[in-house]
Amino acid sequence: MRPWNFSAGPSALPLEVLRTAAEEMTDWRGSGMSVMEMSHRGKQFIQIHAEAEADLRELLAVPDDFAVLFMQGGGIGENAILPMNLIGRGGANKADYVLSGSWSNKSYKEGRRYGDAAVAASSGDAVSLDGVRQEAWTWFPDPAQWKVRADASYVHLCSNETIDGVEFVQWPDLAALGAPGVPLTVDASSHILSRPIDFSRAGLVFAGAQKNAGPAGVTLVFVRRDLIGHALPTCPSAFDYANVAGADSMFNTPPTYAIYVAGLVFKWLKKQGGVAAMERANIAKAQALYGYLDSTDFYSNRVHPSVRSRMNVPFFLADETLNAAFLQQAEAAGLLQLKGHKSVGGMRASIYNAMPLEGVNALIAFMQDFERRHG
Ligand code: PMP
Repeated sequence: MRPWNFSAGPSALPLEVLRTAAEEMTDWRGSGMSVMEMSHRGKQFIQIHAEAEADLRELLAVPDDFAVLFMQGGGIGENAILPMNLIGRGGANKADYVLSGSWSNKSYKEGRRYGDAAVAASSGDAVSLDGVRQEAWTWFPDPAQWKVRADASYVHLCSNETIDGVEFVQWPDLAALGAPGVPLTVDASSHILSRPIDFSRAGLVFAGAQKNAGPAGVTLVFVRRDLIGHALPTCPSAFDYANVAGADSMFNTPPTYAIYVAGLVFKWLKKQGGVAAMERANIAKAQALYGYLDSTDFYSNRVHPSVRSRMNVPFFLADETLNAAFLQQAEAAGLLQLKGHKSVGGMRASIYNAMPLEGVNALIAFMQDFERRHG
């Protein structure tokens, strides 16, 4: 049996997907070629790409007025590519950012390089919620309090903060916030395909693939077509959404193998019952793990229950001197990559689509046993 892999990304892929990729490694379906060896302009790869896009559109019910782009540069690349494409729209060169943790902060810092980027809201201070103290970056700013400039080119947020374990999906209608016509842009890297997406509330959603959608190397970008075509003159042509969309993601050589494996993941997701079935499984997994964390003082999760991530579960041992023993024994028990991000400390279990409830239960059983032995 393979160990359970709780890496935040690159992360575990479904074993079935890895096996198919292995079987097809040297000869993709009688073509005599590995997918790695195919021209991206040949009929085989064009089919692989078209199926991947069609399956992705079906899985997320992507509206027709959105282009689906397979890009390179990852989430950090997209932090620059997005402003280069959108901030000049309307001529004001303004963008507003909602700060809710490490990744939205990174997006904001990068955005400032391209224009007048401002903070619409931030959870960077401790607050009292329902009479309980919430530390910085463990809650999400209420949209009713966001300060959105009516002439901003977009408002950006990260809908799942991978490091802090904060997930936010109640995307507001910006018209109701006094900013009609301002599109919301969303970094959904670490929970894409784990739950449905409300595209009526977003103008652009991007996600690096290496958590829930496939291997590193390809970034999924869903962008409303009317937002395309406003790139700054300095935007590299390979990153101009107009060029990428116009050439069906083949303006330059796309990351062909990553797109192929992501396509296998999409087929696997459809077989599991699609995103709705995944969401049910993810709710069950998250309930099991948070339920256990809340039942003991030996471990804790500090995120406000209303915005706890279903995908990334940071937790702390009350006695942090046990951290090294915890990680070492977890690894020996076949539970890998549980170390928390260095900026937060403690532990983090990333329980993406490819992690079944069985793996989460194995983690909980280990944690209970560790508590019995050290509590
Ligand atoms: N955004 C989020 C939410 C992420 O989790 C990550 C990676 N952990 C990134 C952006 C950056 O992705 P990349 O390393 O692919 O640039």
